[in-house]
Amino acid sequence: MTGSYTNKLAECASNSIRILDIKYGTSVDGTGLRTSLYCAGCEHHCSGCHNPQSWSENAGESLAVEELFKLIVDADMNVTFTGGDPMLHPEGFIELASMIKSRTNKNIWCYTGYKFEELLLHPQRRMLVELCDVIVDGRYEEDKRDLSLHFRGSANQRIIDVKESLEKKDICLYSLFK
Ligand code: SF4
Repeated sequence: MTGSYTNKLAECASNSIRILDIKYGTSVDGTGLRTSLYCAGCEHHCSGCHNPQSWSENAGESLAVEELFKLIVDADMNVTFTGGDPMLHPEGFIELASMIKSRTNKNIWCYTGYKFEELLLHPQRRMLVELCDVIVDGRYEEDKRDLSLHFRGSANQRIIDVKESLEKKDICLYSLFK
């Protein structure tokens, strides 16, 4: 990372995240076995949401980013940010993702109810997008629910390869078989 980019990250970062749950070794929030962080706060309020207790921004408890990073390193698995919506208040996740990317070789998936195109228009959300490997985007739409889908609840949601999409300036879906 360049010095100016690092400074920009520092300005947008926060040193804590409200967390509802942490799951270790889960295989449902992305490929392989992962450490999943469930954050508080979501403004989408999708009908049929699997986790409505996560909607309140005051749910769960505030944990220091340093502490979360240590838990992730100790678990030694790839990482998923979910909730709630990690993109609602991306500041703490920007800090955490920066640490994961600069100090480990772990990949990061992030679930969000916003569409990828919307995230790119919001400076801080875009910053978090750029630190992630895969974004699973879009609200949960009950009428498009499909139990046969991998890693997403409804057919409108997309599993997006971030690097390729940013390079090609177009949505590139992530291949689950690579
Ligand atoms: S985006 Fe996810 S957490 Fe938020 S309401 Fe929709 S399904 Fe629930």
